[in-house]
Formats: sequence, structure tokens, C-alpha cells
Amino acid sequence: MQIIDTIYIDGAFVTPHGNELFDLFNPATEQVVGRVRLADEADARDAIAAAKRAFPAFSRTNKRERVDMLKRMHAAMASRKEALLEAIVEEYGAPVSLARWMAEHASDVLSEAAKVLEDYAFAHRAGLAEVVMQPLGVAGLVTPWNNNAGFICGKLAAALAAGCTAVIKPSEMSAIQTRIVTEALHEAGLPRGVFNIVTGRGETVGAQIISHPDVAKLSFTGSTAVGKAILRTAAETLKRVTLELGGKSPAIVLDDASFDEVVPLAIQAGLMNSGQACIAGTRILVPQSRLAEFEARVVEAIGGIRAGDPRDPRTSIGPMVSQKQWDRVQRYIRIGIDEGARLIAGGEGRPHGVEAGWFVRPTVFSDVTNGMTIAREEIFGPVLSIIAYRDTEEAIEIANDTPYGLQAYVFSSDVERAREVASRIDAGRVLVNTLAHEPAAPFGGFKQSGIGREYGTFGLEAFLEPKAVIGAP
Ligand code: NAD
Repeated sequence: MQIIDTIYIDGAFVTPHGNELFDLFNPATEQVVGRVRLADEADARDAIAAAKRAFPAFSRTNKRERVDMLKRMHAAMASRKEALLEAIVEEYGAPVSLARWMAEHASDVLSEAAKVLEDYAFAHRAGLAEVVMQPLGVAGLVTPWNNNAGFICGKLAAALAAGCTAVIKPSEMSAIQTRIVTEALHEAGLPRGVFNIVTGRGETVGAQIISHPDVAKLSFTGSTAVGKAILRTAAETLKRVTLELGGKSPAIVLDDASFDEVVPLAIQAGLMNSGQACIAGTRILVPQSRLAEFEARVVEAIGGIRAGDPRDPRTSIGPMVSQKQWDRVQRYIRIGIDEGARLIAGGEGRPHGVEAGWFVRPTVFSDVTNGMTIAREEIFGPVLSIIAYRDTEEAIEIANDTPYGLQAYVFSSDVERAREVASRIDAGRVLVNTLAHEPAAPFGGFKQSGIGREYGTFGLEAFLEPKAVIGAP
């Protein structure tokens, strides 16, 4: 049982003013594995004040100094990889193979930001002017539970690379991971107040950060509903805002695709992170003429997927993070059935033989139309919809007929054809015949999947504002 009773403000671990105790669960067993003392509004204000004090000096550090800091942070995070992996499995329920990737990702984002910073020119000429990219000020960074450590490190890396100072509000459900990250980053020896980590509720700590006049920039990853509320509140002080929100990504299987290759990719795209992924390809668009063949392949493939103990290396789907999330996924499976979609794999309840834990059966519906609730709303669980289309034009139309636009997948034996389709999809990223991640490329959503971009140069510039200094040459 882990007791977490400190937050991190002004370079020190301090006891929060807030005194609410919040249970942390192992989602695979439903047992309480830890307890965290949550911060409150007063703690958030202290953290913002510390970040504000640190900003003038930090914003004047040079590129070399900040590259060195990011490298030290990377080394400190890399040295905690095993502990972080263990926490991700215990507290979040990610299968070990995924947890390993997540633990590595949390340190990789720091070295990647160092690389971007090294190559970035903060000033350039535009006619008479010298255009200087200036850090925005104090950044408020708010993260969800589905990759908490990675989001903390990724957002912080970009903010610090730009010369901003930061107040981080991680998911309250991920406090064990947050503790490991905080201890590692503390060891990196940054100046006091440059980053502050305040675990608390969204309605208290989060609300304080998003409304505080001393916070100039917000970077939020989470649900579209909360993202909209943040944007409304941020308007009061005209904060710059980056929002990484939900998705309902299409995976378009073109009629020439080889199912030997595409079925495993489409299933992995749909079920990644146990389905708790904003980028999951949950609407699989399949040509009507090959629907029966595709369904048969999917049923076979799903039969080989293990949903259960995340510590078993053969497991690819772990539990949902919470009872609330489990209930939500069950509700959507019921809605799918009620609205007339045809279950071809999985269904309600826990997987066969699993008695405890927030496990869901990997579930696939066919005969889904794009107007059904399960095709329109983000489920955030291992529930996929197969939607048949007549021709490529209709596939593109269905793919774009969604309020979201985070990611899309196109699978075809003809790469040129797939690229042509990709060019017509409204999404921040389109993956053609691959599931690869590219950290140098921008990441973010069209439409209601968000505003702005993370990663690479675009992610760095999200924390900067151009200033033109004009004078005679
Ligand atoms: P959430 O929106 O409920 O919470 C996200 C974070 O915001 C948490 O830290 C929460 O405490 C905080 N929060 C909640 N209310 C707040 C408020 N009023 N003011 C300030 N902060 C507040 O989302 P979640 O359930 O933690 O995560 C799942 C969602 O995140 C899904 O919808 C998913 O699609 C989305 N997500 C998006 C991306 C992306 O990059 N686009 C990545 C992962 C997850």
C-alpha cells in the first residue's frame, strides 16, 4: 500500500494544504493499492506563484542550458524505467508489453524535445524586422490517466524547451506514476519553481489553473467535454490553448487490401491501449463486396487475443482503468445491441474465466451504420464497429462524417492509391499501411479532436509567441 502525501512546489516535496484522501486501485484486482492526499486550490495558487517567480530567470536561459536540462531529465527518467513500468501495470493495468513502451516513451519525449530545441532558430529576419520567438510565461499542463507519465513528460519537455515554467496537474488516478516521475525530475536538478506538480481534482486544482490570470498557456489532454469547458474559461484571460481531445478514428480498408496483413493491423489499431486510446481506429470501414471475408478473419483473430492478467506477457488487453470506465463500456455494448448492430465477437460482461477486475471482452460489431451511437461517440474501450461501404468515395465520406478528426488509417496494396485517399481525410494524422508513431511530426486533431499540435517544432512553437522588433538596419 503506497501512501502519497506530498506534492512538488518550488523545488521541494511539500505537504499539500488540501486534505482529501483518494484511493488508488489496481484495476486488474479491484484492490486498493495506494492512497493519495489531494492538493486543493490553495496549493494550485502556490504552485502558480512559484512558477511565476521562476519565469523571468528561466525564460532568459539559453538554448544550450535548456538542452542540458532536458538531457538530465531524460537520463533521470530513463533510470526509473523499471519502477515506472511496474507502476503503470499496477495502477493502470496496461499489459506489460505496452507498459514497457509507455515507460520508455516517458523518457524518450525528453530527449526528442532536446533534439528539436537544438535545431530550432528562435530568431529570423522578416524585412526590416527581427522576429523573435518568446516564451509565453507560466504554462498549465493537465493530463489524463491513459498515459499519465508520458503526457507529463511530453508537455513539460516542450514547455521547458520553449523557456516557459510550468504547473502540472496530472490525473488524480495516476498518483503512483506521478510520484516516480516527480522524484526523477527532481533529481535532474532544475532551478526551483521551474516545474511544479500538483495532484488534485479537475474541479479544484484543474479549475484554478485554467482560470488563473498568471497562467499564460494551457496544454490539456483529455475528454472533449472538459476541453470545451477549458476553452470557455481560458477565453476570460485569453490564454493560449492547446487541446488534445477525443477521437473516433476511421480505419479504411480499401478493396485491394491483403487481409493477411491488414486484419492484424486493423485490430491492433482498434484495440491499442486496451481500447483506452484517443487514436484508436474504432470505425473499421470495409468494402461491402469483401465484408463476409473480413468478418470471418476478424472473428478468428479476436479468438486469439487474450484479455486478462496484464502481467501475463501473452495478454494484449488489460482491464479498464476504473469501475466507472467499465460501466461506460458495458453501456455502449448494450446500446450497440439495442440499436441493431450485429455482434460478431465479444459482448457484455467479463471475458470467460475472469472473475475479478475491470476486464471487458474484446468486442466487434458489424452491420454498423455511421449514424449509430457506437459509431459516433468515443467509447474508450475495446469495442470496434465494422461499417460497410460501396465504393471509395463513400468510404471517404463516412470517414469524414464525424465530429472528430484526430487520426485515421488507410490500408491498401497500392500505396499511391492509399495516399490519395489519405489526402482527402480530415485528421491530424493519417497512417498508411502502418501503426508507426513519428515523434518529429505534429500530433493533434482537426474539428472537435482539439486545437493546436504537440511534438516536434509545432509542439515547441505552441509555447512561444512571435515578437517583431523593427528598426533601421
Ligand atoms: P478528462 O477530460 O475527464 O480528464 C482529463 C484531465 O482533466 C484530468 O486530469 C482531470 O482531472 C482534469 N479535469 C477534469 N475536469 C477539469 C476541469 N473542469 N478543469 C480542469 N481540469 C479538469 O479525461 P480522462 O477521462 O482523464 O481521459 C480520457 C479522455 O482523454 C478521452 O476522451 C480521450 O480521448 C482523451 N485523450 C485524448 C488524447 C489526445 O492526445 N487527443 C490522448 C489521451 C486521451
